[in-house]
Amino acid sequence: MGAPSESRAALVTGGSSGIGLAVAQRLLDDGWGVTICGRSADRLAAAAEQLGTDRVHTATADVTDADDVAALLANHDIRFGRLDALVHSAGMGRFGPVTLTPATQLDQVIAANLRPVWTVTAAAAPQLVETAESNGAASVVALGSILGAHGRGMTAAYSASKAGLRTLMESIHDELQPRGVRASLVAPAYVDTPMTEGNTHLDRDTLIQPDDVASTVLFLIGLGATAWVPEIQVLRAADRMLTL
Ligand code: NAD
Repeated sequence: MGAPSESRAALVTGGSSGIGLAVAQRLLDDGWGVTICGRSADRLAAAAEQLGTDRVHTATADVTDADDVAALLANHDIRFGRLDALVHSAGMGRFGPVTLTPATQLDQVIAANLRPVWTVTAAAAPQLVETAESNGAASVVALGSILGAHGRGMTAAYSASKAGLRTLMESIHDELQPRGVRASLVAPAYVDTPMTEGNTHLDRDTLIQPDDVASTVLFLIGLGATAWVPEIQVLRAADRMLTL
């Protein structure tokens, strides 16, 4: 481990836009050191400029690439020397009907949304455990989706990837909690981010704001060491219950 420089540090995948950027902003506002990772150095640089503090550290990494993931964790460790929270916000949406869409879409979406939560968590586990053993707790939070709880027509691949995250996070929690690391899922409905920009069916005035999703992530991370909230669903007020 590198030399500790900030009192708490987080790694946010997909941290250069949308929900990940909002989470990074909230953590920085609270005094954390934050590594944001993404695939585009330009987008990361723009995000860092927007965040406007030297407590943000950028790391270009594709979370589907094993070498990138190893380098990302080493890079974070050199900069901060601790990992109090790992937030998995990298992800993508691909949509189409099961009957007309090649199953390769399922492979791609699982590879982008589900598998990296496994691999990045596994790579981060030594740093999370070391931090938890020194400080009482560390957290892993993954961005799932309400579509992981309720499949809809056209959403099968995405829903399956996010449904998989529900039990993956429970398994991670079960394995790492004895060493002080909690794992939770935040499952929003439609959020006002670049991911939903192409969806012309949405009334954008009804979308959840990224900062409200970030609030739930901060809540989970901030819980006392003996408390665990496995999942938070964040619906649009206009959704009422299941009318997505
Ligand atoms: P976004 O597109 O703004 O952010 C996702 C980020 O992840 C992007 O910057 C993207 O480049 C990055 N990313 C994707 N694949 C990556 C990879 N392999 N390596 C590194 N970075 C990668 O979208 P968002 O809405 O902020 O989405 C964040 C998370 O929240 C996603 O997991 C998404 O599925 C989930 N989510 C979004 C919504 C929504 O309506 N926007 C709803 C529920 C869940």
